[in-house]
Amino acid sequence: MINVVTLLKESGAILEGHFLLSSGRHSNRYIQCAKALQYPDKAARVLAPVAGQLREAMQAGAIAIDAVAGPALGGIIVAYELGRQLGLPAFFTERDDSGTMTLRRGFEIWDGMNVLIAEDVITTAKSSLETATVLERLGARITALACIVDRRAEDVHIALPLYAAAKIEAANWDEADCALCRQGIPAVKPGSRKQ
Ligand SMILES: [Zn+2]
Repeated sequence: MINVVTLLKESGAILEGHFLLSSGRHSNRYIQCAKALQYPDKAARVLAPVAGQLREAMQAGAIAIDAVAGPALGGIIVAYELGRQLGLPAFFTERDDSGTMTLRRGFEIWDGMNVLIAEDVITTAKSSLETATVLERLGARITALACIVDRRAEDVHIALPLYAAAKIEAANWDEADCALCRQGIPAVKPGSRKQ
């Protein structure tokens, strides 16, 4: 059994420090799964435990999956790799110019299609739940969510079953409550060249 957290750390996908997130909030950890997913063998290894849990759940009749869908960009490789390991088709949703999640490129949903939604990191599951809404409107049944890293705060509840490769605690502070700002440590924007 591989240690997913170790593998992510070795790839530089988990950074420790003081980060300004795209949401405007501050954290002591930043997770960038793309750093691990750029290597196809690592993508296969980090998602193998999730595929294993899903396969067991399907065999036990607990869930049904006809296809995997990932919100772009973070969900594309995750959905593809889970689809590959489970022998299922995988596609993605994407935001249009106004920022609304949509299904494009001729991907088709049939009535009652069982869809698993896959993402790299689940914090609030906002993108996954927006994808769920779009696909449900087209007739899909969303049966579960899957991700590499579950970094939800305790107060984030998701009604659907969630399959994750790893659970990682990360602070999610409002700037005013940030413990690291209080210590006078400068916050960095992850992914910026200065980092
Ligand atoms: Zn801060």
